[in-house]
Amino acid sequence: MKIAVAKEIEVGERRVALVPDVVGKLVKQGLEVWVEAGAGDLSYFSDAAYESAGAQVLNDGARLWGEADVVLKVSPPREREDGQSEIDRLRPGAVLISFLNPLGEPSRIQRLAERGVTAISMEMIPRTSRAQSMDALSSQAGVAGYQAALLGAAALPKFFPMLTTAAGTIPPAKVFVMGAGVAGLQAIATCRRLGAVVEAFDIRPAVKEEVQSLGAKFVEVNLEEDTVAEGGYAKEISEAAKARSRQIITEHVKQADVIITTAQVPGKAAPILLTEEMVAQMKPGSVVVDLAAEQGGNCACTEPGKDVVKNGVTIMGPINLPSSLPIHASQMYAKNLTSLLQLIVKDGELALNFEDDIIASACVAHGGEIRNERVKAALA
Ligand code: NAD
Repeated sequence: MKIAVAKEIEVGERRVALVPDVVGKLVKQGLEVWVEAGAGDLSYFSDAAYESAGAQVLNDGARLWGEADVVLKVSPPREREDGQSEIDRLRPGAVLISFLNPLGEPSRIQRLAERGVTAISMEMIPRTSRAQSMDALSSQAGVAGYQAALLGAAALPKFFPMLTTAAGTIPPAKVFVMGAGVAGLQAIATCRRLGAVVEAFDIRPAVKEEVQSLGAKFVEVNLEEDTVAEGGYAKEISEAAKARSRQIITEHVKQADVIITTAQVPGKAAPILLTEEMVAQMKPGSVVVDLAAEQGGNCACTEPGKDVVKNGVTIMGPINLPSSLPIHASQMYAKNLTSLLQLIVKDGELALNFEDDIIASACVAHGGEIRNERVKAALA
């Protein structure tokens, strides 16, 4: 069975789907691993390292895409510079495993189904204990949260830690994290390690203990409505609840040196947590790092992919932050993919058991059909 690692073509994508370490393990299990030449260049994994691990490095991308049984990628397939779509390079019956943004761009899933490809979306891996080792949303969100803390610290014209020096005492920076999911919790942990005083807010009350266990203060907002949806995700809250939470968090926003926002609601635009009026009340020199920039942003002033300055406040809207730490982001993603491969490959053959909740959830196209009801609804 041929497992192929495609070279990413998305602009700014520096990650690679498998790293040489895990290639070695797959080869030992009897799988044939093909790697497109240069696939690991931007994450510092050389063709030679893949070859030493037992992979075959192919210069012929069309052959790799066209003959593989399973193609592994990080970014969703897209149009190539020569006008051909990556989807059309896949042979009918092949399996594609990648981030696919199935709810945001359902037409891509339709095209994969029409092509007869079995598409497995890494976004749709359920957030359960059994699927934890395959949970690429979490592994990559952790990278983004860490990088967000570093971006904020580097852009702030102040120290993060408290310093007692002969030249005077420096108080610690105040960081306010909004949205304490996987990325938010990693941002809190990283800011704490850098010595900042951290506060955090989330509409899911269950995160309070996790926030406190990282040494941060939880800002309580009683919204008087249900905020948790299926799977433990946040629900979209009412306008009244949004207004109420803004009222309470404004005091914390005014005090903050750095605000890191990570709030998301699956399948919806990111909620606006920081209005222009709130930014106008922030201290000059303070920094907002908006991790929801790609989903429209949690701050009304965010411009995706840009840093903008409003009244002396820098608002950063980074895109694809995990790609900026490509060695470890790739290593973690590769581990997620390998765990998934253990589930779908048995004795060197593809064995898709649709009774398995992980496969039932993550396999969005198979046998010419879209298999996921939420994707079908998004297309309608
Ligand atoms: P996410 O990226 O969807 O959202 C980030 C955070 O934003 C969430 O904590 C959410 O509650 C918060 N949020 C949404 N709207 C908000 C608002 N208006 N104001 C403030 N905060 C708001 O979340 P995620 O990090 O992907 O985690 C989603 C869920 O999955 C969580 O319950 C998490 O614990 C769970 N999870 C479980 C596992 C597992 O069991 N293996 C693994 C990872 C995540």
